[in-house]
Amino acid sequence: MAKFNNVDLPKDIVKYVYKKIARCVITFMLLESVAILISILSWQTIAAKTGVIFHVCIFVLLAVVPFFVSGFPLKLIDRSWAGTVTDVCVKEKTGAYSDGEGEVFPYPKNVIYLKVRKDDGKEKYIAAKEFGIRHHKGFAVPNEGDVTKHLDDYSEGDKVYHFYGLKHYYIVRKNSEMIECVVCGASNKKEREDCVSCGHSLIKYI
Ligand SMILES: [Zn+2]
Repeated sequence: MAKFNNVDLPKDIVKYVYKKIARCVITFMLLESVAILISILSWQTIAAKTGVIFHVCIFVLLAVVPFFVSGFPLKLIDRSWAGTVTDVCVKEKTGAYSDGEGEVFPYPKNVIYLKVRKDDGKEKYIAAKEFGIRHHKGFAVPNEGDVTKHLDDYSEGDKVYHFYGLKHYYIVRKNSEMIECVVCGASNKKEREDCVSCGHSLIKYI
């Protein structure tokens, strides 16, 4: 275990997050260098034609774009948090899948949402699981998955954790024998030590 953003996480997961941050910073710096280079090289031609103020605006725009494209702002505002489920509900949404030949088809999907009261008192809805999608040969295709069978897997009082830099939540469910991997989101049996899909350690607080 290693201390990271005020929580104890398995070392391989901390390493994974550091790698993600490094990738984000490198992408940001590369894009920023290109943006600055383009601005400098185009200074004579664009500024002469359009005026200095217009060119400065383009320079600022070019400098800001890499910041958002690289995902940097998300890393800066992200924080680890813990909370408790106060409500479970299902919402109908529309998904889209590609047939692999350029055509995209919409399809209805059901998403299980959890209303979570964070330990700091704020409330938040998180998407826990979705039904109506299946992956086949790299493509997402509609699936008849029955959301009602899985609704009981989640209940009020379940603990939810979000860890800095990780997309998937760690949800401790009283009524389920499964836990999700915080790195790839795959479902695993609670007794497993590492994820069946990506091999990262499974977090086990309880
Ligand atoms: Zn995994």
